[in-house]
Amino acid sequence: MVREQKEDLLFCIVDAHAITLPFDPVELKRRTLALTADLIAVGLDPDKCTLFVQSDVPEHTELAWYLAAVTPMGDLGRMTQFKEKSADKDFVSAALFTYPILMTADILLYKATIVPVGDDQMQHIELARETVRRFNHRFGNVFPEPHGRLSTAPRIMGFDGEGKMSKSKNNSVGLFAPPDEFWGKLRTAFTDPQRLRKSDPGRPEICNIYTMHKAVSPEETTQEVYANCTQAKWGCLDCKKVLWEHLDRELVPLRAKRAALDEKMVKDALAAGAAKASAVAKGTIAEVRSAMGLGSGAVR
Ligand code: SF4
Repeated sequence: MVREQKEDLLFCIVDAHAITLPFDPVELKRRTLALTADLIAVGLDPDKCTLFVQSDVPEHTELAWYLAAVTPMGDLGRMTQFKEKSADKDFVSAALFTYPILMTADILLYKATIVPVGDDQMQHIELARETVRRFNHRFGNVFPEPHGRLSTAPRIMGFDGEGKMSKSKNNSVGLFAPPDEFWGKLRTAFTDPQRLRKSDPGRPEICNIYTMHKAVSPEETTQEVYANCTQAKWGCLDCKKVLWEHLDRELVPLRAKRAALDEKMVKDALAAGAAKASAVAKGTIAEVRSAMGLGSGAVR
């Protein structure tokens, strides 16, 4: 995404999604700004692309309400993420149930056609496509159908090997965590459970460390990993050390860039991004309201 960035490429920090699970308001604000700084540090340039916070553009939640009118409850109940996140919880918010509609609104508000996602989000993209078909069938051809795009690392598993990497499951590490902490977590990360001894050949295709190599290491290193794993020439610790070398080399300049960012720079970037996103969002909302017959027509 860094290589492809341009004005009409939008990056949205989805704070309105974050409130669907228990949260602390002060911490939410801190994390919103911290994530923005992370994204700028890894290479998003607010002058080239559109980087903004979801709730700074209230048309996201407005469109979500309109789209809720064409979304069957049965479809929402089938969402795997809802089932997983609501399982064994005393309190499940209605917002968690309707979360996929807000995600659809995030996409359709900008008439996005390509949405980079992890593979666990493909079901939500399919719902968005279905919503487009339902909406357009009833109200005219307003939205294009979006398509999901997977990266070379479509699912990064947690370091414990249990499900995807997730802060709430405490099986993750922050990209900008101190190097000792990062390596400490990587060193003990789950790998191929069949590799009990170094002499046991491994299965890189099912190993999370190999997935990360594919995302971070050069192609020749990835091939070396594959060969040394399947021929039992490397132990998993050797493999992780090589990954850490490549990862840390990438992170050194990014850490410096992030340290140089202050709160004002981050907020200025977000203000400019919200202005650019709002201009597009307002146009789409006007079109939707008109297609659906909403409003009196007396207020512009
Ligand atoms: Fe995974 Fe590397 Fe161990 Fe193979 S050698 S199982 S790719 S960590």
